[in-house]
Amino acid sequence: MAETTFTVPDLASFLGLDSLGLTATGMRIDGGSALVECRLQALEEDAFCRVCGAQGVAVGTVSRHLAHVPVGWRPTHLLVRLRRWRCQGCERVWRQDCSRAAAKRAVLTRAAVDWAIRAVGVEFMSVSRVAAALGVSWDTEGDAILERAKDRLINDPGRLKGVEVIGVDEHAWRHTRKGDRYVTVIIDLTPVRDRTGPSRLLDMIEGRSKQVFKQWLQDQSETWRKGVQVVAMDGFTGFKTAAAQALPDATEVMDPFHVVALAGDKLDECRRRTQRETTGRRGRKEDPLYKARRLLRTGAGLVGDSGWERLEQLFADPQNTPVEAAWAAHQKIMAAYRAKTPAQGKTRMEKVMQTLKTGVPDALEELKSLGKTLVQRRDDILAYFDHPGTSNGPTEAVNAPPGTPTRHRPRIQKPGQLHHPQPHPRRRLQTTATTPLNRKSHVCAPGGV
Ligand SMILES: [Zn+2]
Repeated sequence: MAETTFTVPDLASFLGLDSLGLTATGMRIDGGSALVECRLQALEEDAFCRVCGAQGVAVGTVSRHLAHVPVGWRPTHLLVRLRRWRCQGCERVWRQDCSRAAAKRAVLTRAAVDWAIRAVGVEFMSVSRVAAALGVSWDTEGDAILERAKDRLINDPGRLKGVEVIGVDEHAWRHTRKGDRYVTVIIDLTPVRDRTGPSRLLDMIEGRSKQVFKQWLQDQSETWRKGVQVVAMDGFTGFKTAAAQALPDATEVMDPFHVVALAGDKLDECRRRTQRETTGRRGRKEDPLYKARRLLRTGAGLVGDSGWERLEQLFADPQNTPVEAAWAAHQKIMAAYRAKTPAQGKTRMEKVMQTLKTGVPDALEELKSLGKTLVQRRDDILAYFDHPGTSNGPTEAVNAPPGTPTRHRPRIQKPGQLHHPQPHPRRRLQTTATTPLNRKSHVCAPGGV
């Protein structure tokens, strides 16, 4: 390791309090959360009345509780002690100004707002997860973050330079009784494609509609629009229409993450329908189908021996045949994105589409509907394989080749070869490789894992 110089450990610089104008004076860590007591760095400048200019006398302190950037997954809050002053001339009372640390009435520090914007807009964390990490209720703060995101982005006009690949997606921003409110998030995926860095947030706009996205595209310069080669998006057709109209020369790519999610949702639908049809009610926790709901959506390579046994038992019941078919389709779609080369992936995906288009009996309504969507978006789905790395979602994390920055590396293990279904009735599921004899015996042992 290169020569390293250490400085004295310092909580304030570790937590980035300097930039907020704060110093740490104490801390309390209990269980899942940390509270850091702070005061303002500058004590004197506020001591004079802004109205009459007379000197104030200190009359106690007030505290402000702010959520700060979490350390790890532990919500980290600040208790900022502010001095109160009373003017000797006009009796006005005021407190120290901590606007550098947080906006008026805000619950989050400015640093926490920046963290949240990045977490939601670029790192694809769900809004509720971000709120949980910060240790705040989202409803109070979501809108403030949106405002701040706008401010920050508008102050950075250079952000649009050199953009060739963009991703567009929607986030449920706030759940209200009247329905959810959405924001459309536009990010720059050029550095991801070129493997030069992480994606960058370009803009956040309230609402999600064809019109919102189209208007945004039209507000950009013509030169900029001409520079955009690829638009990655989810299954929402409004975005597609907007992109086709405003960026006629760009290639639209449907994001792998959303394609896989679509197949997974159809699998869930099919499982629930099968449950209803076989038992006449919704799944309960003791029902095998219900119990297997997560296992069914797990990629083949991540299923352990006991998982395979459970799947085998489940699919041995002829009533569950529709679920097996939906499961196989979902697995094949995932496998296509995990193929060794884009060309192989493309061939596999074309095969899946062909099967779903022609080889599905009417009774398998979920697969029919999946096939219909895939065929409708065929070009956009296949375009991904010609433009690898143009993904919005976490799939880029699933698919990224070695050498990509860590944040784009697989978070889950790469699965092995899918099993090939064999004809009924003496069918056995092939596990990924030949299972060593010693492991077989342990699986068969009573109470085995
Ligand atoms: Zn005064």
